[in-house]
Amino acid sequence: MAVGTVTSSPLGPPANEKDAKALQFIEEMTKNCDSVQENVLCEILTQNAEAEYLQKWNLGGATDRKTFKSKVPVVSYDDLQPYIQRIANGDRSPILSSHPISEFLTSSGTSAGERKLMPTIAAEMDRRQKLYSLLMPVMNLYVTDLDKGKGLYFYFIKAETKTPSGLVARPVLTSYYKSNQFKTRPYDPYNVLTSPNETILCVDSFQSMYSQMLCGLIYREQVLRCGAVFASGLVRAIKFLTLNWKQLALDIETGFLNPKITDQDIRACMSKILKPDPNLARFVRDECCDENWEGIITRIWPNTKYLDVIVTGAMAQYIPILDFYSGNLPQTCTMYASSECYFGLNLTPMVKPSEVSYTIMPNMGYFEFIPHDSANSVTKPNNDSPSQLLDLADLELGKEYELVISTYSGLCRYRVGDILRVTGFHNSAPQFKFIRRKNVLLSIDADKTDETELQSAIEKASELLKEFNTAVVEYTSYGDTKTIPGHYVIYWELLVKDPGHGPSHQVLDQCCLAMEECLNSVYRQSRVADNSIGPLEIRVVKNGTFEELMDYAISRGASINQYKVPRCVSFTPIMELLDSRVVSTHFSPSAPHWVPERRF
Ligand code: AMP
Repeated sequence: MAVGTVTSSPLGPPANEKDAKALQFIEEMTKNCDSVQENVLCEILTQNAEAEYLQKWNLGGATDRKTFKSKVPVVSYDDLQPYIQRIANGDRSPILSSHPISEFLTSSGTSAGERKLMPTIAAEMDRRQKLYSLLMPVMNLYVTDLDKGKGLYFYFIKAETKTPSGLVARPVLTSYYKSNQFKTRPYDPYNVLTSPNETILCVDSFQSMYSQMLCGLIYREQVLRCGAVFASGLVRAIKFLTLNWKQLALDIETGFLNPKITDQDIRACMSKILKPDPNLARFVRDECCDENWEGIITRIWPNTKYLDVIVTGAMAQYIPILDFYSGNLPQTCTMYASSECYFGLNLTPMVKPSEVSYTIMPNMGYFEFIPHDSANSVTKPNNDSPSQLLDLADLELGKEYELVISTYSGLCRYRVGDILRVTGFHNSAPQFKFIRRKNVLLSIDADKTDETELQSAIEKASELLKEFNTAVVEYTSYGDTKTIPGHYVIYWELLVKDPGHGPSHQVLDQCCLAMEECLNSVYRQSRVADNSIGPLEIRVVKNGTFEELMDYAISRGASINQYKVPRCVSFTPIMELLDSRVVSTHFSPSAPHWVPERRF
């Protein structure tokens, strides 16, 4: 079947026998969604019946949905934090789960400036692996011959740390890439990567990226698909090529690896792959020397059939640049997952990004849904209104819901914070468009900055202005992804009481850094270790600009009484208004502080 074709019956015919089994599994799960969910909840409650958390809610051994919903409250991270802290401190009693906690997964969502810690159990790794194993069988339905070449995927691990009790804490993907399930995966012709494990398993992001790109260039004719987990990762990889092509070409010409690559495992594995190839070096130079990056992906990797990157949610901002780099290759979003739980997959991965829907696999956990309108009223135990939360089988087409999960690792009725809209059904399983993550104001890469964090960062930075008798009277922000890497832009309107002694350019530069120091650890890690976010920028605007902004909003129908300054903007006319009033721009003069160790 040709690329881009979508069948009305998405799950057949399979490309091979292994795929047939995977597709059959999806069919079974989605046909029996409700009974699978019933069983999953029963299994979770049986498995964790002795855990302190479930004991507290007096289920009395019940494993049915009605009792569960009426006795166990809906919670968010802060409610569970004391339990999680005890596990981190070394309490080995069954607190959330009866199974031993194997490690902590550090989510990109933060609490008090640090990544949230999600305790997980060993069996979850197999569940995640199971979901991964379904992705290629679905893709093979739409794109043929993916067994005839390789995938160029930029995958990275991040620094890990240990809790006071010695449990490892790391992002879920780091945990997965370091697992035996990944490292010793059996050969699968449909899933051959250009990046050897050694290049992925290096925590230094430069060395990892460099060696993965080098392999991508060496195997360029075999590459059939290019990807990264999130779109921001692929954009960063291409930017890396634009900055490092000369050295990469030199390595290829001479067969000697850049001495900046000091990781011994990478050097050892590259010594088997990198051989002098002057023709390839010439090709890379010819393609890159005029610094025209339009269509660079298809020029370097001409056999690429699609880009495999998540471009839904906050990542949609990268669609235009990926179109530019790839000459409009299809961008496929295959999977929807989180540190807490892997949720599901896209059964029609070749659709346009704006039409992507994910099918939650009912075997992954027990899923409940808060109708979005009432989402704000159920932060407390919902004993008064147990029916408020709906099951997968109860959802209605076109409605929006907030996702609530219960997992084998012991999260019970946990609010993930994602808002989803039902766009259709596969068998009896609803399919969801990812609408947004609640409370996220700014996001460039994995970072998620909310309004309170931005507000405190601004308060902190404005302390530097006090001695100049200056205050920030209004502000708003913008995630600028026109630069690569993208960066936060903060618009400030200042009140300078003594114009003769206002803050200098340097002081305002320092304000940028002061803000960055205040932002959460995911932001600072992206700035320092991953280089996936550029220096924060403050744009000082003329006095009266925010009043003009209000006039503009009111002219478009906003109510004067209810008008609030938007704390994040992206609408072009507003951006144009703000940018036309800029009197000075300032950037962080250096990177903020970040160390892999975290506070526990
Ligand atoms: P983390 O806990 O750091 O793994 O982040 C998980 C969050 O990333 C999810 O709850 C979503 O908000 C977001 N996310 C994950 N997968 C997708 C996707 N396919 N589309 C949009 N957002 C996603």
